[in-house]
Parts: sequence; C-alpha cells; structure tokens
Amino acid sequence: MIVILGAGPAGAAVALGLRTLGYSVTLVSEWRRFAALEGVSVRVLEALRGAGLHQALADATLPSQRQVAWNGQQHAQNVEFLVDRPRFDQGLREDLRRAGVELIEGRVLSVQALATGHRIEMEGREALLADFLVEARGRQAPALGKGLRGPETVSLLNRWQGTPGSTASAVESLEDGWAWMARRADGQCYWQWTVDVASAQLPGKAQLLDYCRQRRHGSALAREFFGLAPEVDLQLHARSSTAILCPQVCGDNWIRVGDAAMAVDPLSGNGIFQSLSSALQAPTVINTLLRKPERAALAQRFHQARVEQLFWRFARIGRDFYADEQRWLEQPFWKARRHWPDAQPAHAEPDFQALRIERAPVLKDGYVDETDVVITADQPLGIWHVQGVELAPVVRRLQTEPAEQALAGLTVEQGRMVRSWLLSQGFKP
Ligand code: FAD
Repeated sequence: MIVILGAGPAGAAVALGLRTLGYSVTLVSEWRRFAALEGVSVRVLEALRGAGLHQALADATLPSQRQVAWNGQQHAQNVEFLVDRPRFDQGLREDLRRAGVELIEGRVLSVQALATGHRIEMEGREALLADFLVEARGRQAPALGKGLRGPETVSLLNRWQGTPGSTASAVESLEDGWAWMARRADGQCYWQWTVDVASAQLPGKAQLLDYCRQRRHGSALAREFFGLAPEVDLQLHARSSTAILCPQVCGDNWIRVGDAAMAVDPLSGNGIFQSLSSALQAPTVINTLLRKPERAALAQRFHQARVEQLFWRFARIGRDFYADEQRWLEQPFWKARRHWPDAQPAHAEPDFQALRIERAPVLKDGYVDETDVVITADQPLGIWHVQGVELAPVVRRLQTEPAEQALAGLTVEQGRMVRSWLLSQGFKP
C-alpha cells in the first residue's frame, strides 16, 4: 500500500500521478491551521492545471495587479493571482476524491520505519501500515538530520476584515525585512511581515499583535493600500519561512516531495511552483522503485539531484532580489540575505564550447532510465531532447560536421527548435 502524508499541492499532485499509473493510494492529512492568501504567477496556474488539480483552481484564484516598492522605487508589476488557501486546499481534496484516492482526515503523530515498510501512528485512530511512504507534510514534516538552512526567518501573518473594495496586492522592502500585502474584494485583508529571527527583537506573544499594527501603520504604502477602515477580527499567525533543503529526499521505499523536501524563501513567490516541481516527477520515481528495483539507485539519484538543483537555483534568485535593495546594506536582515547561499550566478552564461555529453538519469516511458544528455552551464543535470530530437547525437555531430549535415533529416519544426536551442547555447553557425 502506498500512503501519502499531507494534502497540500505536493501530496495531491503525487496522488493524482500515482492514480494515473494505476496505483491505489491512501492519503492522510489534517487541515491547515490558519487561513492565508498566497500569490502565484500564471505559470503556476498552468502547472496546477497540468497536474490535474482543476477543482483546486475552480474558485480559489483571483487576478490582482501587484505593486512593488523596492529599493526606494515604486512600480506596478505584472498581474499575480491570489490563491485563497482554505478554498484551494478544499478543492485539492475534491480533486483527490474524484480521482479515487482514499482520504483519511487526521493528524499523523509519528512514523516508524519497519523492516518491510512504515508504521504510521495517528491521533485517535488505529495505526496504518505502508509499503511505500510519500512524505508531503510541508514544513511540518519532521527534520531528517542536519540539512541546509538559510538565515532563520519568520513571517508574521496579520489578517483582518476591512471594508469591501477591489482585489490588490503589493510588496514592500523595509529596513528590517519586507512585507507582502493583499486585499480581497470582500474586504479580507492580509499583511505578512517577514523578518530575521536573530535580529528582529520582537516583543513577547501578548504584545506582538500591537507591535505589528504599529509597524504596519508606520508604512505609507500600507496606509494607502488598506485605507483607514477599522481592522475587525484582527488575527496573527507566525510561520517559519527559512529556506530548508532536506539532506536526503529518497530511499528504497520512501520519498519526500514539496516543502518536506525543500522549502524556499517566500520572497520568490515560487513555493507552490517548487513544491509541484518536485512532486510531478515523484510518481515516475516511485514507479521505478516499485517495478524496477534494479534501477533504485538511479531513481534516487534523479530525485535527489533535481530537488537540490531547484533549491540552489531559487536560493540564488532570492539572493539577487535581496541584493537589489541597496538602502540598508548594513542592516542584519539584508546583510545576511544578499550573500546567501553563495556568490555563483543564478543563471550561467551560455558557452557552446563548454557543452559536455554525459550519461544521466531521465524520465522515459514511465520509468527513470539512463541516457546521454547534454550538460550546459545553466542546466547541470543535462538536457535530453528538444521537440523529440535527442540533443547528445546532434551536439556530437556538430563537433565534426557542418550544421546542415548534422541537422539533416529533421522536420522543419524540429530543425527550427533545435537551431533555436543551439543559438541559445552560444552556437555560431
Ligand atoms: P503544504 O501546502 O504545507 O501541505 C502540507 C499538508 O500536510 C497540509 O495540508 C497540512 O495540514 C498537512 N500536515 C502537516 N502536518 C501534518 C500532520 N502531522 N498530520 C497530518 N497532516 C499534516 N507559495 C507561493 O507560491 N506563493 C506565496 O505567496 C507564498 N507565500 C508564502 C508565505 C509564507 C510565510 C510561507 C511560509 C510560505 C509561502 N508559500 C507561498 C509557500 C507555499 O505555502 C508552500 O510552498 C506550499 O504550500 C508547499 O506545498 P506542500 O504540498 O509541500 O505543503
């Protein structure tokens, strides 16, 4: 029996993928303990749709023009979509039910590894035995030894009822952190303040709500954004938002996906996207572990490498956002973040001469397989094909043959796509 823990976007995407491959799946999850709005881009909506999570999107997203106030400059950026997480999470469960996933609502207390599987202890229920375990409990998943952590960060989510108006969102850098704010047409208001745990000097729990209010009212942008209406039913929820990479994300009979495998800084607004990225490949990895155990090491290597690569890429993108803010270089919040995780560029320059061909794991016909791929500066895990054309043989031929000859035999469309890829890699015909 395959058991998934956690019904967030990652757990749901794995469950649906496994159902498509013909597996029966049991999913155990409790509900999130707080309401939140989260902002996503149109590509996240497409990825969610692609994963079959249609109900989750049905009435949980609202388009919103986002304002950005960063490094003393203010501008209106592209549209983001506001996801109402309680509705979204409800929709995820509806998608799971429709796909025939057995859903158990409840809290998991502990998971014990047995010789042949896992024993899952639940609150107020009999324990469950699983042959294969998918850990998708998000940031609440128990830590697996010492992983990699970014600067310790906490986000204080303030939520209240204001007066109805139009949907909007904004992000603002502050001397000791940054704030994301959103307003829904029905008057629900959110202000999320992200600060450095070590240096924020926050007051105790009893004073925190007042302290947040005072800080919010101190921001001209927030005053303008929310207006002067009274803040009815004001509530506070603190969430850790430290970037975390789990040291191991796959074994012979378990896998970690989503925030349980790695969680990114919310500044990038990419959390849901990232959690889906690691989840979408997981059903094929699981299928390989279960049906072709002789490829277990390859499958594990595939999952581990992709999770790590995603983590480093988004950590570096986050670092560059922080580095764009130049007004408070010596403030602990900014100082700690504009150099983490390292100094490597988020995107490496293309260099055709530096392309290498290596054997690497890829997803092929429902399994993890191994084949020749082209390793580029920007894609260290390699690229297998473009428009169905395997790139390693093309790159190999280009080393000794003229382009016309190396690309002969491709359809017009394939030729166009492969040429465009080659040019993007710095190829000079
Ligand atoms: P989750 O969505 O966290 O799902 C985990 C599930 O497991 C939940 O249903 C939970 O109830 C359940 N669970 C946990 N523990 C147990 C247990 N013991 N027993 C049973 N069930 C359990 N992402 C964006 O894309 N845009 C944003 O604007 C954004 N803002 C964010 C702001 C903050 C402050 C933070 C911390 C994160 C933000 N994110 C944002 C990230 C986003 O929330 C996550 O990346 C995403 O939800 C991860 O999906 P997941 O499926 O891995 O885990």
